[in-house]
Amino acid sequence: MSFNSLGLSDALLKAISKQGYTTPSPIQQKAIPLVLEGKDVLASAQTGTGKTAGFTLPLLQLLSEGKPLRHRPVRALVLTPTRELAAQVYENVRQYSEYLDIRSTVIFGGVNQNPQVATLRNGVDVLIATPGRLLDLHNQRLLSLANVEILVLDEADRMLDMGFLRDIKKIMAVMPAKRQNLLFSATFSKDIKALANDILNHPVLVEATPENTTVEAIAQQVYRVAKSLKADLLVKLINDGNWEQVLVFTRTKHGANKLTQKLISSQITAMAIHGNKSQGARTKALEGFKKGTVRVLVATDIAARGLDIPLLPHVVNFELPNISEDYVHRIGRTGRAGASGLAISLVSADETTFLRDIEKLIRERIPVEIVEGFEPDPNESTEPVKQGQGRGQGQGRSNKPKEKSSGAKSPSSGGRSDRNKSRRRS
Ligand code: AMP
Repeated sequence: MSFNSLGLSDALLKAISKQGYTTPSPIQQKAIPLVLEGKDVLASAQTGTGKTAGFTLPLLQLLSEGKPLRHRPVRALVLTPTRELAAQVYENVRQYSEYLDIRSTVIFGGVNQNPQVATLRNGVDVLIATPGRLLDLHNQRLLSLANVEILVLDEADRMLDMGFLRDIKKIMAVMPAKRQNLLFSATFSKDIKALANDILNHPVLVEATPENTTVEAIAQQVYRVAKSLKADLLVKLINDGNWEQVLVFTRTKHGANKLTQKLISSQITAMAIHGNKSQGARTKALEGFKKGTVRVLVATDIAARGLDIPLLPHVVNFELPNISEDYVHRIGRTGRAGASGLAISLVSADETTFLRDIEKLIRERIPVEIVEGFEPDPNESTEPVKQGQGRGQGQGRSNKPKEKSSGAKSPSSGGRSDRNKSRRRS
């Protein structure tokens, strides 16, 4: 199948071909025609499936079909959980709208609001935003959402994990009830289903990959190793394998910093990216990583969401995540758009239970190796690590992110839930 058969305009096809895409990914094949028909869509799709183009391309087409409104009020709103994902979606919107008369911008917290406000004043058709800053600016009456025709919730599961549900509801309350809604989520918990029920109007369900299975193009490998030898083993693997671009996941911010120092002292360029880093530091780390001046990016799960690094050859779990779905998210970063990748996990005795849980989820056994000189410690306890036993602990998953506005009040949120109820699917 080619992009030509999806009903997209020539201007969009030109932008797509400029990106070098020849074939729409499965999620794009399914979602694009539905969105163009004006349907509400509930999509199960992880990062790496091409989901961003799956909603951005038809959204741009729909907006460009009519005349731009006078003063250019926001007509499409894309909400994302993190700044990085917001920036990434914006970048895609800009690329795909190159040949269209569409204005777009991105707003997120942690940076001065003035440049964002100035851009909004000039009018934008597509706004990409994190919920906290969006509400902040709305409460200051610096933007209006009264003309929103299309709403996208990207990585909705992460937004709920990060405590954005209330903000999302407040945002709903200041938008027109009649609009098209698209909800993208990698996982479908009870909470996500409830949110979908609330927001979507007779949605069509589309799935990119069978739920909770690993992308086939990724080779997986477990190294059993003593906890105290993990960092040395990682240095050896990177050096022996001549790995040039490695994304390493740690469970905690502190762990990310410590490992980064260790890599640097072993003459491997590395930078950490996590919630305590400023926006500038994160952007710098990501740019260095993409350019190749930073060989290893050490990240926590939350910080890594939304990072767009095409063709990533190696992902390492320095520690296994205690939430099995996060394993699938993490290693999904290697198998992007058909390229193959290698996902390695360094597993100590206390992570045995996590490993079993992950294998259950992905319904396969991951091959295990032991490297000479880096054997597991037979005296190490197999008792699971205490920290981060459940969702919301560990590296601060449930903590509201920094950009989150506090005490944001929505004057009309009271009446909203009634209206939502009337929109519920029967
Ligand atoms: P996403 O899942 O939206 O984060 O996209 C993952 C990566 O795939 C991004 O780097 C996109 O630029 C790229 N991509 C999206 N659609 C296609 C396509 N049809 N063909 C090749 N690459 C694509």
